[in-house]
Amino acid sequence: MDTSKEFPTLRVVTHPLVQHKLTILRDRSTPTKIFKELVEEIAMLMAYEATSGIPLDDVRVDTPLESTVGHQLSGKKLTLVPILRAGLGMVDGIYRLVPNARIGHIGLYRNHDTLEPVDYYFKVPSDAAERDFFVLDPMLATGGSAAAAVTSLKRAGATRIRFLCLVAAPEGVRRLSKAHPDVTVFCASLDRELNAQGYILPGLGDAGDRLFGTR
Ligand code: URA
Repeated sequence: MDTSKEFPTLRVVTHPLVQHKLTILRDRSTPTKIFKELVEEIAMLMAYEATSGIPLDDVRVDTPLESTVGHQLSGKKLTLVPILRAGLGMVDGIYRLVPNARIGHIGLYRNHDTLEPVDYYFKVPSDAAERDFFVLDPMLATGGSAAAAVTSLKRAGATRIRFLCLVAAPEGVRRLSKAHPDVTVFCASLDRELNAQGYILPGLGDAGDRLFGTR
């Protein structure tokens, strides 16, 4: 995993499988079905990295031969929070890896007057202070939605939050880490820049449209 001096909160998952799959994802000719499967697979591989710091407790386990000490994830269950709608594409892959995770949801829209993101939907487990949260959105573009989602989670009591995306723009990482320097950001690629329409370059296009075939 790569870290960077300019973006101390950023972790780039450089595993060859992730990079291989991301390249297929970027390809404009990749069909919706494959795109959706790849988003799930990359999210799963990224969750493997993002869970590496999660604490374990010792537990006694009886094998067919004897009793021994094993390990289990400590504390409350992990909570996945996709930002609607593209974040939904990352849930199943991670859920396969952590099947006792809880799933919250955040929906945001942009207020036309203030241009600031506002929640239209917010639902997470009530004991947020005791949980680890993974906020999911394939694209960290301007960082506006990401920062607003984390602010909403913190307002609900969350203190341990990681942000998982597939592709990040420098602008988005900068904005999210300025607003929330305590949130580690995991991505598969730190891309070059945003264009005037807010798309990441080189990017992979509109992740929601490519996931759900609404292009
Ligand atoms: N959202 C997307 O789906 N793609 C981008 O490039 C930027 C934001």
